[in-house]
Amino acid sequence: MYFNSRYQTLPSCLYHHQLPLPLKGAKAGHFNAVLAEQLQWSDEDKAQWVEICSGQKVFAEFEPLAMVYAGHQFGQWAGQLGDGRGLLIAQILDKNNQTIDLHLKGAGSTPYSRMGDGRAVLRSVIREYLAGHALNALGVASSNAVGFTSSTQGIQREKLEPGAMMLRTSDCHIRFGHFEWINQYQPDVLVEFTQKCIEWHYPECLQAKQPILAFAKKVIQRTAVMIAKWQLVGFAHGVMNTDNLNITGSTLDFGPYGFMERFRPNWINNHSDYQGRYTYQQQPSIGHWNLWMWLNNLISLCPIDYDKEQWKQDLSQCLEHYEPTFLEHYEHGLNQKMGLPSFHKDSFDCAMAFLRILQSEQLDYTQSFIRLQNKDYEALKDDCLDRRQFEAFLAQYESIREHQDIEELDAAMQLANPHYILRNHMAQKAIELAERDDFSEVDRLFKLLSQPYQKHSDLEQPEDLAPLPSDVPEVMVSCSS
Ligand code: AMP
Ligand code: MG
Repeated sequence: MYFNSRYQTLPSCLYHHQLPLPLKGAKAGHFNAVLAEQLQWSDEDKAQWVEICSGQKVFAEFEPLAMVYAGHQFGQWAGQLGDGRGLLIAQILDKNNQTIDLHLKGAGSTPYSRMGDGRAVLRSVIREYLAGHALNALGVASSNAVGFTSSTQGIQREKLEPGAMMLRTSDCHIRFGHFEWINQYQPDVLVEFTQKCIEWHYPECLQAKQPILAFAKKVIQRTAVMIAKWQLVGFAHGVMNTDNLNITGSTLDFGPYGFMERFRPNWINNHSDYQGRYTYQQQPSIGHWNLWMWLNNLISLCPIDYDKEQWKQDLSQCLEHYEPTFLEHYEHGLNQKMGLPSFHKDSFDCAMAFLRILQSEQLDYTQSFIRLQNKDYEALKDDCLDRRQFEAFLAQYESIREHQDIEELDAAMQLANPHYILRNHMAQKAIELAERDDFSEVDRLFKLLSQPYQKHSDLEQPEDLAPLPSDVPEVMVSCSS
């Protein structure tokens, strides 16, 4: 590994040094060899992956630490939070010379654990491990993981579950909530902290006339693009609190996330979110709300020679780019999924008509796009109760595609429509086997989800391609992980 240990150059109020506390009977779960290679792990590092991913080996080059941050949770100020069960154990350079954080989740309690035990259970580790991998392979910016370990140590949740640890990778663990903590508790470090964020994550902004405004615009842009991509693949994050969004717009902190199966815009996978704040269709507006909360923390950074009111206005103007950026990416991506030309005035309307059919007929989001891609219109129509609605859609769809470069549109569709997403019941089956020390299903899903835009007839099983029948109870997913 090539270290670039930089977080500890920040003021020491922002973290607490702490060593991982290994679990009893740590054992191999799964290892992402391709990612280890990308992260320039040596053969010796790879041979020691179980020790590294279970907190038994730490590095002389980096003293592990827990970060402090704060946040708004479900719309309410939650005060001080922080890494309550994860530690930054290294910052290393990948093959592209990008600095990547290695964060060990489930490594024991820290001063920020509050009432928690500092641990993660195998169930939630597998869910996060597979989802990070799936999103990366789908082309959505996200944390990932080099590997995870299980253990013989029981951890109490609703029931006793095996404890586990996961070595998460991310280009950034700095959350909107870091700025909220600083403003509330240690405002004197805001200037230095912001400067470091820009230097590390958006160095191109240093050249701008107003680096802070340029930085804000970039964070807003990346967040809008990330959320547009979530919507396109049908991903619902589940807990979009300000402590769970980072400043590089890469997906972080999966809790009760889910991939959409039957198309229901008001769907929520998080059974602890009683008010439905974080439903699939709310994600774009919640992204906006979170960015607004974040921008407030930059008000006090008004340069000396700048009018204070003007500064506030300029900051809030940065946010005006959010919606158009989101829409541009979402509309373009949706047209691509549909095989419709973006320049045609009726394309987006036609795509919306398709989504309305999926919604009213409760059809599977992923497989319906694959059917459209395969021109399997008969199968789609057969699934509809309201066949006339489908026929009307199809007539419009075919008339827009007439006289277009169909080959080009079809080729674009294949790059935009995954065959495979991580359905809750797929993850659940892998978890149940892993709890009996059988990681073969984790491995199968890992491989299947590595190239989701390609058909893998050798790897797939029928259950990968459809939601459970509607009378089978859904897997309950809550925040207790
Ligand atoms: P989350 O909603 O998973 O992002 O967690 C919110 C906060 O609670 C974060 O600061 C976590 O570190 C902390 N937390 C969650 N679970 C635990 C746990 N089992 N032990 C300690 N802290 C936890
Ligand atoms: Mg979190």
